[in-house]
Amino acid sequence: MSNVLRHIPSVHELLDSPPLQRLVQRVNRNVVVNGVRDFLENLRSELQTASREMHIPDPGELAERIAEWIVREGQPPLRPVINATGILLHTGLGRAPLCDEALAAVREISRGYASLEVDLETGQRSQRVQAVEKLLRRLTGAEAAAVVNNNAGATLLTLSAVAGGREVIVSRGQLIEIGGSYRLPDVMSASGARLREVGTTNKTRIGDYRDAIGEQTAALMRVHTSNYVVVGFTETPSLDELVTLGRQRGLPVIDDIGSGALIDLAKFGLRDEPVAGASIKAGADLVLFSGDKLVGGPQCGIIVGRRPLVQQIVRHPLMRALRVGKMTLAALAATLQLYLDPDLAARHVPLLALLGTSAENLKQRAERLAPQLQALRMIEHAEAVPDTAQLGGGSVPTQALPTWCVALRPATMSVDQLAHHCRSATPAVYGRIQQERLLLDLRSVPASQDLALVEGLVRLDNPVSPGPTQETAPSNVADSSESAD
Ligand SMILES: *Cc1c(COP(=O)(O)O)cnc(C)c1O
Repeated sequence: MSNVLRHIPSVHELLDSPPLQRLVQRVNRNVVVNGVRDFLENLRSELQTASREMHIPDPGELAERIAEWIVREGQPPLRPVINATGILLHTGLGRAPLCDEALAAVREISRGYASLEVDLETGQRSQRVQAVEKLLRRLTGAEAAAVVNNNAGATLLTLSAVAGGREVIVSRGQLIEIGGSYRLPDVMSASGARLREVGTTNKTRIGDYRDAIGEQTAALMRVHTSNYVVVGFTETPSLDELVTLGRQRGLPVIDDIGSGALIDLAKFGLRDEPVAGASIKAGADLVLFSGDKLVGGPQCGIIVGRRPLVQQIVRHPLMRALRVGKMTLAALAATLQLYLDPDLAARHVPLLALLGTSAENLKQRAERLAPQLQALRMIEHAEAVPDTAQLGGGSVPTQALPTWCVALRPATMSVDQLAHHCRSATPAVYGRIQQERLLLDLRSVPASQDLALVEGLVRLDNPVSPGPTQETAPSNVADSSESAD
């Protein structure tokens, strides 16, 4: 075995080979040297533990393999994806894409120092939420606002601050689970508030809340059942009824609207999505929603409502643990700014632009893309097909959005292998598998990405050999020669 090990070329010998020389010219030399060492170490231990004779490639081939490995290893795990799943708010793919205005604001605000917690007028310390509070008040009609890490954080913090150690009344029909790790009863218990369930899965009446109110009651809570509907023999009190009861008994009403639209989205084909301003108008004392669902902004949780309650919330010690940074505030402020003109928001907020794209537009693009993809060796057949897309992200399960897809049938591989292949493209392409075909759903693909989609798949189909190409160079490695390391 040690005999075999002696056949492994030295690090220096390998570094002199053309493929690794080429790589050294493009990336930091240390990265390549360390990569070669790591690769050889893995190879040696593989050879030592191998149960049978293993073949060591000749030095040229070995250098080739090492260069490819270094490029692959250097790829950042967080990479751009073309979302062709048709799920617009795909949590695994980062939910809402940000608008250009938000990106510009993040760049501007985070590359240097910013007035995050200072008032430039007076020079005094201020609250960081002020960057967005005015906008949130204007857009929702609320007296005050706070922003935290996400809506789960907003719920946890609100319950702790408003109802810690006491009871919150919630209908049994609204004890939601969102995406596995968020369950309202668990968040409630982590907050220190006690869940007081009332009613049944399908029917809860206002009288059930009334009967449950006692000395321990701190609040009434309504939760938007964003990812399911109960149909048939059902009943649930309206927000108006809850507000009336809350007022009679001096109890705040907390409304977790989840996906949280800022404007009515009926014209985008989404009916029954709660709008933050409507809840405030109906008298909810606190309204909670996500920033990266229907708002189409950065990940955050938004709390709007009555000033004394919001103050109680921001003074709670958990606020510090859940607060957002300047990048989030800059992105949120820029996104909210667009909503002051709903037509502008409809065009510039990517989520709304995707929702607002006509089926005819999607059809034309699918028909244009199909022949280009059919020309690929890995594709046997590609055609434009109509289907239905989903909003996703724990939103509106029942409202299917009309869409058009390019349906791909693989030539020489299984459909799973084709899907895997597409995910390894640059940028990665994520589709959905349906009846032995890979569907690339254009509802969630901005038209500006059509070209990148095709080009990425074409490159994958015709790998440039030998060795890694410029296109596959990982950006973190490629740029490292400029950094001061
Ligand atoms: C999505 C959702 C949450 C969780 O929000 P995150 O921003 O993902 O933390 C909570 N409640 C409802 C009703 C939701 O739809």
